[in-house]
Amino acid sequence: MGQTAGVPAAVDLEGMVRGVGLRVTRPRVAVLSAVHDHPHSDTESIISVVRAELGDVSHQAVYDVLRALTAAGLLRRIQPMGSVARYEARVGDNHHHLVCRSCGAIADVDCAIGYTPCLTAADTAGYEIDEAEVIHWGRCAECVAAARAASGD
Ligand SMILES: [Zn+2]
Ligand SMILES: [Zn+2]
Repeated sequence: MGQTAGVPAAVDLEGMVRGVGLRVTRPRVAVLSAVHDHPHSDTESIISVVRAELGDVSHQAVYDVLRALTAAGLLRRIQPMGSVARYEARVGDNHHHLVCRSCGAIADVDCAIGYTPCLTAADTAGYEIDEAEVIHWGRCAECVAAARAASGD
C-alpha cells in the first residue's frame, strides 16, 4: 500500500496541498482524502478514517491538519447549531446546506441561481464581509417517512 492508497487518481490531493503553499505530509493528504470521500464528516469520523489508513495519527495531529487545511481554503468547516463541526472538501462554490433536525443528516443545496442577492447584506455597517451562510432546517426524507410510519398514516 502506497502513501496515496484509497485516493482516487482523478483528484490530485498532493497537488492541492502544494498549491496552497503547504508542505505535503501523509496526515494532510489522508485528512483531505477522508473529507473528499466523506463530505460533512465530523472530526471523530475523520480521525477514524485517517487512522484506518495511517494507523498512528493522534487526535491533535488531525485537529491541527483540519485547522491548517481549512485556513488554507482546501476545506470548509460548517457548524450547524447544536451540531459538532463538520468538514467538506467542496469549497468555493457558496453552496448551502439542508440539516435534518431529527437525525442530523446534512445535504448540499446548490445556490439557486449562482448569484445570491439574499446573501448580499443590505447594510454592511462597515464590515468587510467574506462569507454568508444559509442553513435550511427541517427533516430529511427518511425521518419524514419514519414519522409517517410511526403515526400510522
Ligand atoms: Zn433525518
Ligand atoms: Zn456541503
